[in-house]
Amino acid sequence: MNIQNKSFYLSAEEIKEFQTAGLEPEFPTDLAKPLRDGMEKYGLFAPEQLAGRTFPIACIALEITQRCNLDCTLCYLSDLAEAVKDVPLFELERRIEMIHAHYGDNTNIQITGGDPTLRSIPDLVKIVEMIKARNMRSALFTNGIKASRKMLEALSQAGLNDVVFHVDMTQERNGYKSEEELNKIRLEYIDRAKGLPLRVMFNTTVFEDNFREIPMLVSFFADNAKSIDLSSFQLQADTGRGVLRARDAQLITQESVMQQLREGTGLDLNYDYPLIGHSDCNKYTSIMVSGKSRTVLFDDRPFFNQLFKMLAKVGDNWAEPNIVIRKAILKSITNPALLWGGVKFWFKKAWALKAGLMQGKGIHRLNFFIHNFMDAEKLEFERCETCIFMVATADGPLSMCVHNAKRDQMISKPSRDRNGKIIWNPLPETLDKKNLPLKKLKGRLRGMADNKRRVSAKKIN
Ligand code: SF4
Repeated sequence: MNIQNKSFYLSAEEIKEFQTAGLEPEFPTDLAKPLRDGMEKYGLFAPEQLAGRTFPIACIALEITQRCNLDCTLCYLSDLAEAVKDVPLFELERRIEMIHAHYGDNTNIQITGGDPTLRSIPDLVKIVEMIKARNMRSALFTNGIKASRKMLEALSQAGLNDVVFHVDMTQERNGYKSEEELNKIRLEYIDRAKGLPLRVMFNTTVFEDNFREIPMLVSFFADNAKSIDLSSFQLQADTGRGVLRARDAQLITQESVMQQLREGTGLDLNYDYPLIGHSDCNKYTSIMVSGKSRTVLFDDRPFFNQLFKMLAKVGDNWAEPNIVIRKAILKSITNPALLWGGVKFWFKKAWALKAGLMQGKGIHRLNFFIHNFMDAEKLEFERCETCIFMVATADGPLSMCVHNAKRDQMISKPSRDRNGKIIWNPLPETLDKKNLPLKKLKGRLRGMADNKRRVSAKKIN
């Protein structure tokens, strides 16, 4: 299909009408079926594809507030964000139950916003507990400014699994002029989570000003692989209230970012095994690190093919390496071919990591994810239909890209009970959408208001 053809993208009307997955799952006894069907429809359900095989969804965002203490130049939030109310606990519980009905045990829920840490610690603890009580996994997505040690301790005690710090140059933090300088903050955040039973991850938005620093950043993550589980790179997208709009399409592509990661790790990383969702949206790769030694993890296809075939089961806990490794060892014992493949694999890896191992360093796994969000006005139907990254809206799960393209419509929608009665309205009773107070303006709206003020000040003078 010709990508230049306008009809390739969803029209404004189609975006507006794009439906959520509803409050109830369509196939309650086979929760992965909708994703699997979507993948099959577009010929994406290859043997190396994990979406629909090991999970019905990769993750779902639970936005508990739209407020934020930063104003990133590529923020995905929308104009009304600072004006709507925080989602109350009873409504969050309703959405958490809805998530479990759709995707079942071990679903990865991103507690996000805005910045979720603007809610109180007791609220956050309650949210984590509600997720844990339904046997699902929770991750706190934050810029880290308010994520104190005290907060992280309370949340990990309540059962939080992961903390994901967003740190990059789009945040324009005072006194930091490069990604390299921001490593100071990253180290401080690692330290805050130290010793807690939390996986630590980092998010980085890739844009023109930090593209050339990606190899340095990747090398920093690899050097700290002992404390970091995943580093996710998100390509600039023209969506939301951020003042920087479309990416430089020559500079920032999936291919160019993959290449920067290769340079940063010094490894010939492969991104085609295993696959996670649509390859135009997601690229995934994983390395093993011991001291300064590094090696690619998934470079033995026959072995991993066999392993995935034996282990792949929707609803299992795939996030904890110890659980997966234990299962793999147990399977190997009863399967000589797998056992032999496993011995060969570990021998090869130990050899590649020998320098680090000989210095007494442990082996750590570091995952890399490259996420290619779509521009709000360039949503491809195929990718929206096979989306693995959803948002829990009042009406049910919806693809994150579609949600971003019509955020104001979604975040201002009242929640209703099964009889259609409104149970919660996110809009304050006295909100004048056209004249939001200046303190509630961020991103483009604030820029426009500032310009207006400057023009009228000039006229007066
Ligand atoms: S959020 Fe967008 S880019 Fe990500 S998987 Fe869904 S459709 Fe693809």
